[in-house]
Amino acid sequence: MGEKKIINRYDVIIIGGGVIGVSVARELSHYNLNIALLEKEEELCFGVSKSNSGIIHPGTQNPPYSLKGKLCVQGNLLTRKIAKELDNDIKTLLNIKKDAEAFGVPALKIVSSAWLRENEPNLNAEIVAALYAPTAGIISPYRLVYDMSENAMQNGVEIYTETLVKSINFFSPFSFKIYTSGGEYTTKYIINAAGLFADDISGMAGIFDFKIHPRKGEEFLLDKKKSNLTNHLIFPLPAKKSKGIIVIKTSDGNTMIGPTAEDVEDKNDLSTSDAGLYKNLCHP
Ligand SMILES: Cc1cc2nc3c(=O)[nH]c(=O)nc-3n(C[C@H](O)[C@H](O)[C@H](O)COP(=O)(O)OP(=O)(O)OC[C@H]3O[C@@H](n4cnc5c(N)ncnc54)[C@H](O)[C@@H]3O)c2cc1C
Repeated sequence: MGEKKIINRYDVIIIGGGVIGVSVARELSHYNLNIALLEKEEELCFGVSKSNSGIIHPGTQNPPYSLKGKLCVQGNLLTRKIAKELDNDIKTLLNIKKDAEAFGVPALKIVSSAWLRENEPNLNAEIVAALYAPTAGIISPYRLVYDMSENAMQNGVEIYTETLVKSINFFSPFSFKIYTSGGEYTTKYIINAAGLFADDISGMAGIFDFKIHPRKGEEFLLDKKKSNLTNHLIFPLPAKKSKGIIVIKTSDGNTMIGPTAEDVEDKNDLSTSDAGLYKNLCHP
């Protein structure tokens, strides 16, 4: 990524090179602004964005009338639009009905056990019906981040990896100084896209009104030999604190089962466990 070339003043500095940071970078790169993105790891997409299930959620798993549900439906449409603009072959993975204009989840239908037997023969034969949400899709999460970051860089965004933000000073509303492991940066605006660490960054700017309580998810990835196990994304009814354990056919063709949802103390806890494997295998 970019060499450590520190220009004196940016209009916008984005902290965090996950899916949120790079999509903001790409969007802002359409405007005449000096923009930099600072990422503490050696590569973009090394945070939560690298290790998710890759599902473009259709919006069926959220509490009714919630902000999350509303954004989920908008995000589903936007992700398709971005994928199209970037012209990557996600198109083939997004082989589901076109719903470009609509808000709300389109084309849901209840399918019968006969439909399931025909279309998902490896599911339990006792299932009598299921909700079919054709706008659910699958994406390669890292590919999306890399494609968006390349596009943002072509449009002039400077990206500095291995640049840990350590503290922030503000002198007036439009004059911030950011101290990092790679030098000092000044900017008019800061965008906090630091994911799990967004509360720490916020605290550096003197704002303490939210705290992130980390929750870990383990996924069980099967060999491609098992790629014919299912043909669709299979969701259970949502669990109390998560979307439940999902059977996913990843964009690479492997079947993946998960994730678990476990509250943890340590934001850097990436461990896997026998208990997680058991949960994924016994409660899909
Ligand atoms: C197991 C699991 C499965 C999931 N599955 C799905 C799914 O199928 N579909 C879906 O839509 N969502 C899914 N999610 C949620 C989704 O992955 C996240 O909401 C999303 O990746 C968050 O992106 P982000 O850019 O906010 O955070 P991140 O990807 O974590 O990016 C934040 C970045 O900020 C950097 N950073 C932090 N502090 C600093 C600092 N001080 N200085 C510089 N850089 C810093 C980090 O290194 C990181 O790269 C899943 C999550 C989990 C845990």
